[in-house]
Amino acid sequence: MMSEAPLSCEALLKQAADVIGGDTPRLDAELMLSDVTGWSRTSFRAWPEREVNVAEVARFCTLVEQRCEGRPVAYLLGEQEFWSLPLKVSPCTLIPRPDTECLVEAALALELPENAKVLDLGTGTGAIALALASERPGWQVSASDAVTEAVELATENATRLGLPVTVRQSNWFADLPAGCFDLIVSNPPYIAGKDHHLSEGDVRFEPASALVAGNDGLDDIRRITTEAPAWLSPGGWLMLEHGYEQGAAVHRLFTQAGFASVETRQDYGRRDRYTLG
Ligand code: GLN
Repeated sequence: MMSEAPLSCEALLKQAADVIGGDTPRLDAELMLSDVTGWSRTSFRAWPEREVNVAEVARFCTLVEQRCEGRPVAYLLGEQEFWSLPLKVSPCTLIPRPDTECLVEAALALELPENAKVLDLGTGTGAIALALASERPGWQVSASDAVTEAVELATENATRLGLPVTVRQSNWFADLPAGCFDLIVSNPPYIAGKDHHLSEGDVRFEPASALVAGNDGLDDIRRITTEAPAWLSPGGWLMLEHGYEQGAAVHRLFTQAGFASVETRQDYGRRDRYTLG
């Protein structure tokens, strides 16, 4: 498919971008070539004729072939940036998405005590918890996940970034030690079981347990909104990510659970994405 002789960066990127499908073939190719060579993406533009050696060309070709099979770049490189933090990722967790950065932004805009107690439920890579801890050193941020590998991964990310986030294994609230939080935030699974988009694109390689939640996609959100009030301090906030067609339903679940000041907000693509109350 591709040459395995030494080649210029630009020639390699061009060949790769032509065969990689998906929405961002050029970006994918640049991220993979940058990983293989250790050269920055901007250097490819500044020095397009720079030559890549045979061993690196071969490694790059292997990555491109796996990308062509549909494997997400983040899994191939083992890393994904979230809130400018380099996070280790693995196929046992969801790949952090830019949309979820909206929740981080909204959480930082809340008026919380200096030493607020914050919980990220179903943390996966640790993305939300780590982003919050990186911005608010005074907050006591903890995180939980039901999956052992995710707890280990989030803990490793916290250690690598030197951020003080405690990660515990718990199926939502079931196995948490008693606590009282000023903010509980979560990006739970929320895709409806019957949803066809799971058979296309990167999600095929992500764990269904992090994506799918019952027939209507609301099983986990229903459980969290019901149980969260017992874990919140008076005036504490709950903030949940959800699908863009679930805004009204999630708003209703918050209200039924007794939350006040409930508000559904949009992501950077102007679609309903998260609700807080
Ligand atoms: N936003 C993701 C998607 O639609 C789903 C994330 C989730 O279920 N928490 O692919």
